[in-house]
Amino acid sequence: MTVLALVEPGEELSLQALSLARDLGEPLHAFTTAEDAGLGAYGVHTVHVANDERLDAYAPAAWAACLEQLIDRIQATAVVAAGTNRGNEVLGHLAARRDLPFAANCIAVGSDGSVTRVRWGGSLLEEAHIDSDLLILSVAPHMVESTTVNGGVAAVETMDVMVDDADLVVRVVEHSEAPSAGISLEAAKVVVSGGRGVGSADGFGMLEELAGLLNAAVGCSRVVTMAGWRPHTDQVGQTGTKVAPDLYIACGISGATQHIAGCKGAKKILAINSDAEAPILASADYAVIGDLAEIVPAITAELRKAQSS
Ligand SMILES: Cc1cc2nc3c(=O)[nH]c(=O)nc-3n(C[C@H](O)[C@H](O)[C@H](O)COP(=O)(O)OP(=O)(O)OC[C@H]3O[C@@H](n4cnc5c(N)ncnc54)[C@H](O)[C@@H]3O)c2cc1C
Repeated sequence: MTVLALVEPGEELSLQALSLARDLGEPLHAFTTAEDAGLGAYGVHTVHVANDERLDAYAPAAWAACLEQLIDRIQATAVVAAGTNRGNEVLGHLAARRDLPFAANCIAVGSDGSVTRVRWGGSLLEEAHIDSDLLILSVAPHMVESTTVNGGVAAVETMDVMVDDADLVVRVVEHSEAPSAGISLEAAKVVVSGGRGVGSADGFGMLEELAGLLNAAVGCSRVVTMAGWRPHTDQVGQTGTKVAPDLYIACGISGATQHIAGCKGAKKILAINSDAEAPILASADYAVIGDLAEIVPAITAELRKAQSS
């Protein structure tokens, strides 16, 4: 079985995907946009590097077009990518172009096309079968360890890219740094997170204040980002950031499975909620039942007292 993997430059999750791709069969080829002979250490036989700077940053349809080109050239029988936003988007394009099924977020694959994949934000595993001569699948993030092989050296081939203008309609042309708001959600030891119960963008002021005292990052639920109260970069959950702090303080968040998918890595969860029946209480280690507009400032005041004494 000839396997083709999409490797996103600098993306650790792509290396995890290579471990699963390698187990599917050999030879293992990789498509990428930045030369990387080091991929040999992950079992890659040949690295195909796109020779077109318009593709360098990111161009989903054009990357899919390159994968198509390579599938035909090397007669690939499986295409694998990391289950990142980009990996899933590119494979979605590829599957649509070939009118084939695509299995996202796999953690195990059999040579007969049977797959185990993560569904519902990690709350269930699905056994499925891909009925196709070409397996197209992405690997669930952080579910497969990235391992190396001894003495692997990859050949590097520059690829002449054949893409239409239509494939380049969507592409990254510029990166601009988001203004840094201090400690990042991913790295924070404490996250103070707010949901609909916070009530407004201004309501996050009291969460910011508490976070400042705890050296914490501020997170939020999707309802909050949809309402425009906070930027998407602050969203915790299945379609947001996955956090793993020592303490996650969920203020006015109901605890939908899609939210819990992003914070279940926390060592402890403190829920502040006016509803004693809120689903988040099933995941919480501690709970304070009441109005967060009273409870959060009260905690802040106690912390200030403790810090000044
Ligand atoms: C495909 C998909 C992906 C999704 N991805 C995500 C995701 O990544 N992250 C995410 O968060 N959601 C996600 N969602 C949305 C998710 O299903 C929920 O709708 C969302 O998490 C609910 O947000 P919430 O808890 O802020 O609001 P609600 O569910 O409305 O809960 C508000 C809570 O606040 C409490 N409350 C109200 N007033 C107060 C007060 N004064 N004091 C204290 N408590 C109060 C209420 O009791 C309630 O429990 C996704 C949904 C889908 C379909």
